[in-house]
Amino acid sequence: MATTLEFPGFLDVHVHFRDPGVPEAETTLSGLAAASKGGFAAVVTMPNTSPACDSPDALRRQIELSVGSVTRLFPSACITKGRLGREVADLESLAEAGAAFFTDDGSYVSDPKVMESAMARSAELGMCICQHAVDPLIQAGGVVRECSFAKRFGLKVIPAAAEYEAIRRDLSLCRETGCRLHIQHISTAEGVELVRSAQREGLPVSAEATPHHLLLSCDELTVDDANFKMAPPLGNAEDRAELRRAVKDGVLMFATDHAPHPAATKSHGFASGANGIIGLETAIPITYAVMVEQEGMRVEDWAKAWWDMPRGLLAPGLRNAALGLASTVVEVGVRRAVSVADFVSLSRNCPYDGMEFECWPREVR
Ligand SMILES: [Zn+2]
Repeated sequence: MATTLEFPGFLDVHVHFRDPGVPEAETTLSGLAAASKGGFAAVVTMPNTSPACDSPDALRRQIELSVGSVTRLFPSACITKGRLGREVADLESLAEAGAAFFTDDGSYVSDPKVMESAMARSAELGMCICQHAVDPLIQAGGVVRECSFAKRFGLKVIPAAAEYEAIRRDLSLCRETGCRLHIQHISTAEGVELVRSAQREGLPVSAEATPHHLLLSCDELTVDDANFKMAPPLGNAEDRAELRRAVKDGVLMFATDHAPHPAATKSHGFASGANGIIGLETAIPITYAVMVEQEGMRVEDWAKAWWDMPRGLLAPGLRNAALGLASTVVEVGVRRAVSVADFVSLSRNCPYDGMEFECWPREVR
């Protein structure tokens, strides 16, 4: 028998709408429609559009495009000008124009001096800095974690240290500056342990786990399909187990990293395929199946990782707006298969077609 549950509006703090840039992959409006259908009352868009969202005008444009949508859009803005990692953006003006938080997502801010200056200024503003914690020098062109699949297809391996060394550096900057820090799409057991102990220490640190890092692992990869290619890449079974434990313990929140791409960029296999998959229309079914059904998480705690914890990332000026969000209604106990053909997202890069789940978004109201 189906049960209907209603929660404060779910907030996805990590989505890519390709607007401006690649509107055939996702526009602001198609992305918001996918979010509403997926059960999200609000989303935070990433600034790696083309051009990058590093100006008040670019922020205002996104906010204007979303007027009238049942799902609210809170745009984030760049940490550095053009997301180039060299010069800190005008964080004060960006905060004033309504930035949700600051991130150069897709790129790690490598220069510690630049990151330190950004975190000091961000702390003054009471704003959160979110980091794509993958050090490109350690990554060295790697596309997949060490696994039998990597060997079989001769793919370059990315060491776990690319993530945890980046996290370690940022935690020390967090300790120095007092800036609120959030680690995006965490994927390694070592990285989770660093976040866990930093929270114990009392540092203002959080991190997010994506549905794909919670559901899948590189140990299970068998086919050369770029729909399993993400940045950071899928962890191994131990990483996945640690991510699940940390979500259950309230250390991690959820976020999708919804990353639409045109079909052509995903059709040439793993080595050259684009990174990322769409996630808005499957996030609720997957996280419920993994965390509530398989890991025994309480439904209320599962829901909080989608609504309560993500609100803590928003700029102080937006927290009141978050109080007025619509609510999220889900239905549990209706077994249904994912049908990618029925997605309202403009993209189809999703590895879950045909998979069956028990919990589905019903409406945002
Ligand atoms: Zn990222």
